[in-house]
Amino acid sequence: MVHAPSAASWTPVRPPRNAPPVRINLYSDTQTRPTPAMKEAMMRAEVGDEQHGDDPTVWELCDRMAALMGKEAAMFLPSGTMCNVVAILTHCQKGDEVIAHETSHILHSEGGTHAALTGVQIMGLKGARGMFTADDLRAAIRPRTRYAPPQRLLEIEQTANIGGGAVWPLATLNELTGIAREQGWATHMDGARLLNATVAAGIAPAEMVAGFDSVWLDFTKGLGAPLGAVLCGSREFIDAAWRWKQRLGGSMRQGGICAAACIHALDHHVDRLAEDHANARDLARGLGQIEGVVVEEPDTNLVFFDIKGTGVSVETLQKRLMEKGIMVSGLGGRVRACTHLDVTPAMIPEAVSAIREALAA
Ligand SMILES: *Cc1c(COP(=O)(O)O)cnc(C)c1O
Repeated sequence: MVHAPSAASWTPVRPPRNAPPVRINLYSDTQTRPTPAMKEAMMRAEVGDEQHGDDPTVWELCDRMAALMGKEAAMFLPSGTMCNVVAILTHCQKGDEVIAHETSHILHSEGGTHAALTGVQIMGLKGARGMFTADDLRAAIRPRTRYAPPQRLLEIEQTANIGGGAVWPLATLNELTGIAREQGWATHMDGARLLNATVAAGIAPAEMVAGFDSVWLDFTKGLGAPLGAVLCGSREFIDAAWRWKQRLGGSMRQGGICAAACIHALDHHVDRLAEDHANARDLARGLGQIEGVVVEEPDTNLVFFDIKGTGVSVETLQKRLMEKGIMVSGLGGRVRACTHLDVTPAMIPEAVSAIREALAA
């Protein structure tokens, strides 16, 4: 049973036993369930002791990811958040400054980890759709005086989540990483949904991330694995990152069970991301025809829409949809509907009608 977490407590709330079943889950691509074929692959996985270095399936996943990203080495971690934390700890020292977009996950969705644990400060740049330009980045360069925090890392989210799943163009990425290199900064890509970007843009992952020192991919978003993310970089970077993985308790044991799910996702769930993007476009088209709804044309699988013009609040819409077994999320005053592995094309018109009714009620 899926449910929206309560804001009143830090502990996730269990859904009531009589909660209506969720039939159309547009809440997040994190809610995909492993398919029967993925579970089969997990069951068949050859395993060992990952932190001891002898789990063959984890090695296979890391080799495949390093090759896919065009980097020397890779590391399996339990979550994307841990990839960001480990990467920032590896690139930076306490008091260093990380430059990122003001809507980025590291600023808003990691529980204050960078104040609590990594000790970096984050400068949030403005810009439409979660992106900024080379001029914006140049304007953020600080003088090297003893007063200014030392700037150390450029962090880019591909796709930009709160930016509406927007895809940073390759030319912009290359310009930005070029500036970072000039400044002597490291570069890190939060690639939670990187393959949504590469599939949408028709660009190979290695080409898209060529300018970045480190990059990670989440297997628990549209790729549909139950857990796991892989961080990639130079051999030297990954070697240094292992110290932080171990310190944070991110070293696993028979991790191959989960790595097998990720390998299965690489083999079977990448090309199909295009279907999620087509579903998202259809959804956006349908929503755009509802009076009072303002929707942005999606680049990938995230559809953000504004319902202020309808007079219905995001919470009321969520509650009304929940009664029909449909789940959407609220993010920054807007509604987010996310397409993924468990959302079929047939569900799109049904979701549009339900949203139309819920907004008219
Ligand atoms: C989901 C997400 C993360 C964190 O990944 P988890 O696996 O949930 O820890 C980081 N960045 C972005 C952009 C995300 O969407």
